Amino acid sequence: MFRLPDTVTLALDMLEAAGFEAYAVGGCVRDLCRGVLPHDYDITTSATPDEIEATFCGFRLIETGIKHGTVTVLVDGEPLEITTYRTDGKYLDNRHPSSVTFSLNIADDLSRRDFTVNAMAYSPHRGLCDLFGGRRDIERRVIECVGEPAARFDEDGLRILRALRFASCLGFTVGDATRAAIHEKKSLLSNISAERILSELRRMLTGGGAPSVTGEFSDVIEVVMPEISVTEATVDAISRSRCDLALRFALLLGDLSSLPALARLKPEGKLYASVKSTLELARGFDTDDVGLRRVLRSHSYDDTVRTVEMMSLCGRMDAADADAVILRLREMEARGECVNVRMLDITGADLIGIGIPAGRRMGEVLDALLEGVITGRVENERSVLLLFAKDFSKNG
Ligand code: ATP
Ligand code: MG
Repeated sequence: MFRLPDTVTLALDMLEAAGFEAYAVGGCVRDLCRGVLPHDYDITTSATPDEIEATFCGFRLIETGIKHGTVTVLVDGEPLEITTYRTDGKYLDNRHPSSVTFSLNIADDLSRRDFTVNAMAYSPHRGLCDLFGGRRDIERRVIECVGEPAARFDEDGLRILRALRFASCLGFTVGDATRAAIHEKKSLLSNISAERILSELRRMLTGGGAPSVTGEFSDVIEVVMPEISVTEATVDAISRSRCDLALRFALLLGDLSSLPALARLKPEGKLYASVKSTLELARGFDTDDVGLRRVLRSHSYDDTVRTVEMMSLCGRMDAADADAVILRLREMEARGECVNVRMLDITGADLIGIGIPAGRRMGEVLDALLEGVITGRVENERSVLLLFAKDFSKNG
């Protein structure tokens, strides 16, 4: 029914030949049903980790997940995760099962999975195993829990955000029962680690369904980012925004004062710096050429453009004006316009050559030169700058 990559077929064939059941499972089967090329393939099998290792003796194995029953086998250089059928024990902390028990029954393995669309298995030997109506839900385009939603969220609160993420990325709606349980159980997210929350949130925010999911589940987002309140205007701005994570976070946060909500999720430095820069600038700046050059002394072109986009999306700048500012910024960038001391057509050695000592004094001279260039009073040309520097150090 589905075409699997040769490496996956080989692994399934080897496990079956050794007397075990084996299937491709989870996201890859969901994507195959949707007619989308999966980005990776997970395999589930009745073989125990020891039996998986014995079956693939001679292959390179990575044993990192072994205590969870996962063996990673390198087949033709491709890592394939092979996991033993398992049932999860009781969940103690709303996130992790207290124990994992291996099983010989695929139904056990599928029933512990989060959503019907993620709980299907496929093997060329055994066909599609769809015990919970995953294919029907793909056709209906809905995210629905396997089993009783509230109980599944009690087991693992992260599933609440996973539901939002899949709804957004797949462009699906959330089924009624699951939706009701999400709103009811949202406070469980306060037990989930920052890293896991951010990882789901970033995928949700950059998915095609981000505006509708953000609007429908604003209360859930406010649990993980208590500093913010998601208004209709926020949702509307996100719906018109380019799919850029920093821009969407900036729109969600709205103002610099809400930045701690992002900081708490421990974003990587680059994302945090971009959002911070955008929100700082969004408090206002002059958009004439001199104003823009001043901004560009300490903010990148991308952050500045993002801020203008944000201000336009929030109705704080006229859309046509914003487009014109962005065009001017990109022109300045293409021209390589001088906006910082490194771009001055003069070096520290030049200044030492005319008797200006390195250190604080040189910093002052360079700042004065840059100010002259930025305001258009001094041309960024070496001989002009040298004259200005001499004059400044005499009189300034
Ligand atoms: P993607 O294409 O984004 O990788 P995926 O479905 O593969 O989507 P993963 O997070 O990689 O998503 O998880 C793999 C599979 O493991 C899921 O399809 C689901 O069956 C199961 N799964 C993952 N996380 C959970 C969870 N928290 N609770 C229950 N099942 C889960
Ligand atoms: Mg995956």
